Amino acid sequence: MAVKKILSIPDPILREKSILVKKVDKDIKNLMDDMIETMYNAPGIGLAAIQIGIPKRVIVMDISKDKDKKNPMFFINPKIIWKSKVLSTYEEGCLSIPNQFAEVQRPDKCHFKYLDYNGKEKEIKAEGLLSTCIQHEIDHLDGILFIDYLSKLKKDIIIKKVSKNKKELERVVV
Ligand code: ZN
Repeated sequence: MAVKKILSIPDPILREKSILVKKVDKDIKNLMDDMIETMYNAPGIGLAAIQIGIPKRVIVMDISKDKDKKNPMFFINPKIIWKSKVLSTYEEGCLSIPNQFAEVQRPDKCHFKYLDYNGKEKEIKAEGLLSTCIQHEIDHLDGILFIDYLSKLKKDIIIKKVSKNKKELERVVV
C-alpha cells in the first residue's frame, strides 16, 4: 500500500470521465488499497480513483464517526438506480478542492448498485451522509465537482483561491 498524491483543481484530469472496471483483479485491489490509505492519510471520508490520476470507476469511503472503529467501504462501477425527489443540504468539501466548503443540495436518498472489494454485485439504499457522499464521489467519475453546483461567482472565487494557494505551496517546496 502507498499514499498517492491527490490532484487538485484546476488539474484537467479531474474533468475526465472514468471508465468501467472490466475485472476485479489484483491490480484493482492494489488500487483500492492505495486509495484507502491515501484517503485516511489526507484525512478524508471519500476518494475517487481519478483524484489520484487513475480514470477508473472506483471509489473508497469511510463515513464512520468513530476514529478508532474504521469502516472502509469499496465501490466499483457504482451506479445510481433511484433518487428521491426530496433534497437535503450538506456543507461539502473535497480533497481536490482543499480548505473550501460550500452548501450543496442533492437528493436526500438514493439507491445504487456496485461491485464490492471481491467483485460481488451489491445494492445499497442510502440516506443522509452516505447518500450525499456517494453522489459526490460518483460525480467525480463523470468529471463533475461540487463547485459545479454553485453560482459562477462562488465557483470562480473558489478556483482562484485554490490556484493561488497551490502556487504559493509550490513556491515553498521549490
Ligand atoms: Zn471530492
